[in-house]
Formats: sequence, C-alpha cells, structure tokens
Amino acid sequence: MELDTSKELKEFREEARTWLSENVPSEARPHTVGPELREYDQEWQRRQYEGGWAGIDWEPEYGGRGLSLVEQVVWYEELVRARAPRDSVFSVAFGHAGPTLIMRGNEEQKSFYLPKILRGETPWSQGFSEPGAGSDLASLRTRAVVDGDELVISGSKIWTSYGQWSDYGELLVRTDPDAPKHKGITWVIMDMHAPGVDIRPITSIDGFPHNCEVFYDEARIPLANVVDKVNNGWSVAMSTLAAERGPGFLDHRLSEIVFIDELTEYAKEHGKLADQSIADRLATVRAEAAAIRSMAYYQVSTARKGEMPGSETTAIRSWLVGVQTRAAGLALDILGVEALEWKPWTRQWLSSFSAPIAGGTTDIQRNIIGERVLGLPR
Ligand SMILES: Cc1cc2nc3c(=O)[nH]c(=O)nc-3n(C[C@H](O)[C@H](O)[C@H](O)COP(=O)(O)OP(=O)(O)OC[C@H]3O[C@@H](n4cnc5c(N)ncnc54)[C@H](O)[C@@H]3O)c2cc1C
Repeated sequence: MELDTSKELKEFREEARTWLSENVPSEARPHTVGPELREYDQEWQRRQYEGGWAGIDWEPEYGGRGLSLVEQVVWYEELVRARAPRDSVFSVAFGHAGPTLIMRGNEEQKSFYLPKILRGETPWSQGFSEPGAGSDLASLRTRAVVDGDELVISGSKIWTSYGQWSDYGELLVRTDPDAPKHKGITWVIMDMHAPGVDIRPITSIDGFPHNCEVFYDEARIPLANVVDKVNNGWSVAMSTLAAERGPGFLDHRLSEIVFIDELTEYAKEHGKLADQSIADRLATVRAEAAAIRSMAYYQVSTARKGEMPGSETTAIRSWLVGVQTRAAGLALDILGVEALEWKPWTRQWLSSFSAPIAGGTTDIQRNIIGERVLGLPR
C-alpha cells in the first residue's frame, strides 16, 4: 500500500506540515512529578484541537474530522517528522479508551466523553491489571456491587499508567463473583476523583512516576457509567485490547525509524561508524524499523476495509518491542560513557525494559501468535 497516492492526500500532508512548523511547542515536555506535565499535554492537545488536528478519524459529531485512518497516519508521520510531543497523558484516551467508547459506548457516553478528550480537557487511565491479575487478566478481583442506581467499587489496581493525572479510568470490575471468571466482569467509566479513590504513584527505574497503584474503598459511580452491559465487560475489554494492540499506537510503529536515523546521524558525527559492529547493528535495526513501518501501512489498509486488525497485529507489536529494545541498547553503546550524564537516550534505555511487559508480555503475545495465528496446539 502507498500513502500520498491522491492529490488530496498530498495537500493534506502539506497542510499538516505547515501547521506543525508554526505550532509545535518550543519548550520540551517537562519530566516532572507536579501538575506541569498535565498542563503541558493539555495545552498541546487543545492547540491541536483548535487547529483542526484532533481526532482526524473520529466522527465530526464528537468533534473529530471524520477522515479515514490513512489521513490519521499521515498526521502521525508529520508529527514524528516535526519531532512534536507524542507521549501524553492523553495516550490512553486516544489509544484505546476513546476507541472503546466509539465501538461499544452508547450515544450519551460518546457525546459526553469523546469531545472532552479531543478538546484536551480529560485525560484517561486504564485500570485493568491487579496485583494478582496481569497476564491472567480474567482473575481480577476488584468488586462492584449494585446499590440502587449506583455501583460501589472496592479493591485495588496496579501499574495504572498516568493514573495521577487522569480524570476518568477504563476500569474492569467483577460484578458477579459466582459466574465463570470471563463472565461476571463489567467495563466501567471510573471517576478518578470520586471519594474512596486513592492514587499512589510508583517511581520507575528512570526516575519518573509513570505508573500508579490505585485503591478503591467503596467508591461510587452511577450505573450509567457501565459500557455495554453489566457482566459483559470481558467482551468490551477485548475491544479495548484490539484497539491498544492494533491501530492504537500506530505512531510508535512509524517513529522508530526516525529515532534510528537520529542515532545514525549522531554516530556519523562522533566517528562511531568506524566500529564495524556498531555500523552493522545500525543497518540491521534500520531495516527492521523500515519493515515495521511497512507493517503499519499494512494495518492501515486492513482497517480501511472496516475491519479491526486481527491477531497478526500481535506479531507486529512483538517485533516492534524487539526493535525498540535493541535500538535503545545500541543508543547506549553509541553514547558510551556519555550515557552516564543522564541523556534522554539513557532514560529511553532504562524505560525500554518495560516494553516487553506493558500491554501484555511478549510471552503472552507469542502464545497468541502460536495459538491464534499459526493454529499450533496448546
Ligand atoms: C510500563 C507499563 C505500563 C503499564 N500500564 C498499565 C496500565 O496503564 N493499566 C493496566 O491495567 N496495566 C498496565 N500495565 C500492566 C501490564 O499489563 C502487566 O504488567 C502485564 O500484563 C503482565 O502482568 P503481570 O505484571 O501481572 O505479570 P505476570 O502475569 O505475573 O507474569 C509474570 C511472568 O510470567 C509470564 N507468564 C505469565 N503467564 C504466562 C503464560 N500463560 N505463558 C507464558 N508466560 C507467562 C509472563 O510473560 C511474565 O514473564 C503496565 C505495565 C508496564 C510495565
């Protein structure tokens, strides 16, 4: 598949490039614990919305542009090219919470929550994992009991990314403890400011409190916050994971190549290409990143036919994780002792250890490839 095949698409790209050249924030994204990070991301999101660049493939009735995933990909490519901030407290909202509401939410939920995301008002987080339920997500134990027209939630979640900056959470709760474990689960929109919600940031190896533990002590939300139906949350969660592992983080599949080009530039300028093993490793990851980009285009062409990408996206994601990890290690070898000066690439290398875990571990992805793509026996 080729992008930019039509005059319209070329013009769209030009327009995006011009807008970005005038609007990308001049200040770097703060890497701090305080409210500055949320404010920075909100301001950048608001600016994109006002410029008409938020929710390119979301419906206009919710504030989007109503274009296709192809235009969305062109926008991602231009964001990457302009070195614009992409990581954001809105990552969950755009990557999978919003898409889940689009696929499974009712009209009221869509028209209330989606425009708030696009306008940069309300970051979301994801409360799926628990201390005893990660890979085996269906073992989750956080309870929700129906009380009149409310749900009363008690339990705890862990590794909630950006939890401390979020207003809403996509939360999986057990509503029927007697049902088989994949039944009895409900997907709810959690108000992260509700009384009884206690959010405790966890500082990671790179010094940044990206993840949180979240405790729910009889926290109440309206029953109207249930997405789809009570006890049908496993099926909604599968929609969330399909978005997360499919088109959700397409920009990551496109940005790796830019990172490797930057590495190559740096290696050239600092005489590191004389080391044959560095040159060989750079050439290999560059080719792999190009393959990942082609696979991203493949995903877009699949999604264009109105289908959610299938289990093959798991293979793409697993391979991307491998390339990210190898490229981050290579960056450290190229930097040498300079890496000890806490360069951005040092931080990237430290956080790369979490890549094979976040969003489902590589082992689990391999199980999916073996069982669902290759049809191997269990
Ligand atoms: C950076 C980061 C961000 C995250 N953000 C979020 C978030 O926002 N929201 C959220 O809900 N969760 C989040 N998570 C949690 C993540 O989804 C889980 O850590 C992950 O699913 C693994 O679960 P676990 O940690 O309980 O490990 P476990 O499931 O206990 O796994 C331990 C080890 O056993 C292996 N293993 C387990 N079962 C099998 C099997 N059947 N076959 C083969 N090997 C197996 C695993 O691969 C792993 O190596 C995040 C994690 C990270 C690292």
